[in-house]
Amino acid sequence: MKSDALYPMCAKCKNLVCSPAIGITEDPPLSSAPAFCPMKLFPEIISRAASEYDKEEVNEFARLASIQEFECYERTEAGMRTTVPRVEELIQFAAKCAYRRLGLAFCLGLRREARMLTDVLESRGFEVVSVCCKSGAEPKHKIGIRPEQQIGGPEAWESMCNPLVQAEVLNSGKVDLAIMLGLCIGHDTLFIKYCRVPVTVLAVKDRVTGHNPLAALYLAHSPYYGRLLADNKVSNLQDKARDEEGSRS
Ligand code: SF4
Repeated sequence: MKSDALYPMCAKCKNLVCSPAIGITEDPPLSSAPAFCPMKLFPEIISRAASEYDKEEVNEFARLASIQEFECYERTEAGMRTTVPRVEELIQFAAKCAYRRLGLAFCLGLRREARMLTDVLESRGFEVVSVCCKSGAEPKHKIGIRPEQQIGGPEAWESMCNPLVQAEVLNSGKVDLAIMLGLCIGHDTLFIKYCRVPVTVLAVKDRVTGHNPLAALYLAHSPYYGRLLADNKVSNLQDKARDEEGSRS
């Protein structure tokens, strides 16, 4: 970071000069970017990153990804429409990259989905190397989990989630692309850290929302998931909703 006071905060930007509504021959008005813009704070990093695309392999991957992105939209008279769900995007992108052998790192809790995905991918001509999070059958106490910290209780055997095994199996399985399906938070981090092949994500684990973490985020300004925001505005919202409910009953 350039300084403790100023650091990139694209998430709070209102200018969006990096994606301006201008003609193809015009230049983005970068001088009106906010002071916290990474393009202002780190021009050398931006230029170094941009030169990485000069590598043929990187350029080609980025080009195919952008074509895939393009094909997910359709301009119609009624406006822009989206076309395909993520799972279909995955199939299309893997085909564009001429991948044949895909790796699937999945959570045991999503083994049904892993089988469904395997069936779909195999039906499209891919080979699927799959490895479950419990592979290795190592007990949780190996990493310092106490019996009372086991999900199934202190008496039962409990295998640890083992993202390192998943990563190494897929590394040695010579897969073209590893797909993550429902790995837990933290275990997914380790998987990404140890995986040496390109990785993409089909779904992350969210036990409460059918693996759709944004569902809770979308409700963060409602009484239902207002607890996500650690300030009084939320409690106020919840109190208000309770008051309204009380006055109705
Ligand atoms: S890159 Fe700059 S202009 Fe673009 S969103 Fe971030 S802060 Fe805003």
